[in-house]
Amino acid sequence: MRDRFANQPTFAKGSGGRYTDRVLADLAGMELGDLETFVESLGHKRFHAKQIYRWIWRRGVIDFAQMSDLSQGLRTALIDKATVSLPTITKRDVSQDGTQKFVLQLADGKQIEAVFIPDTPAQTFCVSTQVGCAMGCAFCLTGKMGLVRNLSAAEITAQVRLLAQSLDLLDKSFNIVLMGMGEPLHNYDATMKALRMLNEKEGLALHPKRVTLSTVGLVPMMDKLAGEELMPNLAVSLHAATEETRAAIVPSNKKYSMQDVIDACKRFPLAKRRRIMFEYVMLAGVNDSPQDARKLVKVLTGVKAKVNLLPLNAAPGIPFERPSDEVINTFAKILADKGLNVSVRKSRGRDIRAACGQLIVEGQGSKGARGATVPGVPEVPEVPSA
Ligand code: SAH
Ligand code: SF4
Repeated sequence: MRDRFANQPTFAKGSGGRYTDRVLADLAGMELGDLETFVESLGHKRFHAKQIYRWIWRRGVIDFAQMSDLSQGLRTALIDKATVSLPTITKRDVSQDGTQKFVLQLADGKQIEAVFIPDTPAQTFCVSTQVGCAMGCAFCLTGKMGLVRNLSAAEITAQVRLLAQSLDLLDKSFNIVLMGMGEPLHNYDATMKALRMLNEKEGLALHPKRVTLSTVGLVPMMDKLAGEELMPNLAVSLHAATEETRAAIVPSNKKYSMQDVIDACKRFPLAKRRRIMFEYVMLAGVNDSPQDARKLVKVLTGVKAKVNLLPLNAAPGIPFERPSDEVINTFAKILADKGLNVSVRKSRGRDIRAACGQLIVEGQGSKGARGATVPGVPEVPEVPSA
C-alpha cells in the first residue's frame, strides 16, 4: 500500500516551500478515492480525505500545518509523507481587454501557458493539456514546438487551482476550455482524470457542462469520449470543407479524414439542445472562398453543429494571412443564410499573445491585427463559454 504512494513523483520542494530528499506522495494528482486510501495508509480514518480535499481545492491551502480541522497527528504525518505540487507563476501579463496570460513553470522546469478570459459571459480559464503538441497544424504556433511531453492530471488541474486562487475566484463559478497548448485527446487519460478531479463535489464541483474540450479530430478517442460519464462540451477543429485542403493544413487528416471526423460527430451523443462547435480558422486564399462556405454547409448537413469562425491570429513563422473582414463577412453570411448557427471569434489578449494558436512559451511576440466585426453575425470572445 505504502509503496504505491511512494512511487508518486519525487519533489525536491514540498508544500509550503519545504525542501526534502524524501519521496513524497503528491496529493495534487489524487482523486478523492486515492486520497482516502492514502490517508488510511497513514493510519488515519478515510473521511479525513474529504477535509484535505476541501482545503486544497476549495480554499487553495496546500500547507498541511494550516489545515486546522485535522488532528496534529495527521498533519505531522502529511508533512512527513506528502506534498501538494503547484507550478510557479513565472510571468503574468494583463491585456488591455482584461485577458490575463499566465506562464507557469512545472517541477521539471518545462513551461506552459494558461489564460484567463473575463466575462465571456462567465469567467473562463483556457487550460493546456500538453507541453507543445504533436499534431503540427500549419497555422499554429504550439504545433511548431512539437510535443515536448504530456501534462499529468495534477498539472492540468493545477492550472485551474492556480488561476482561480490568483484571481480570487475559488468560490465563484467559471468555465474551462481545453484550448490551451496541446491536443487533449492525445493525452486522454490525464485529461479525463483532470475532469473527474475538477468535478469532485468536495472540491470545485465543476460540472462537465462548464467544460469545453477542443480536438483536432482524433476519431478513436472521440468515440471513447462518447462513452464517458463526465461528458464535456465538444469543439472540433475542422478548418476546411474538403479533404484536400484539410490535409494540407491539418496533418492528422491523413490518418483521420474529414469524413471520418464528421461521422464520429454524427454518432457523438449530445444532450438536448446541445451542438458540437466546429472551429474554422480562416486563412486568406486557402479556405475562405464563398465556394468553401457552400461546401462547408454540405459537409455539416445532418450534424447538430454551430460554427465558430476563427480569423487567423497571425504570427511570425506562420505562413498564412488573415482574410479581410469583408471576406469573413461573406463567408459567415453564406452559412447563416443556410440556417447554420455561426459566430466570428473576436480575438482577446492579442497584445499579450494570449490568443488561440499563440501559446508558445519560447516564441516571438506577434503583431496585433484588427479584430473582425461582421455586421449581422455575433462576435464571440476568443474562447467560447461552455
Ligand atoms: N488542439 C486542440 C485545442 C487547442 S487549439 C485543437 O486543435 O482543437 C484551440 C483552437 O485554436 C483550435 O481550434 C485551433 O485550430 C485554433 N488555432 C490554432 N492556431 C491558431 C491561429 N494561429 N489563429 C487562430 N486560431 C488558431
Ligand atoms: Fe495541436 Fe491544436 Fe495547434 Fe493543431 S491547432 S497543432 S492540434 S494545439
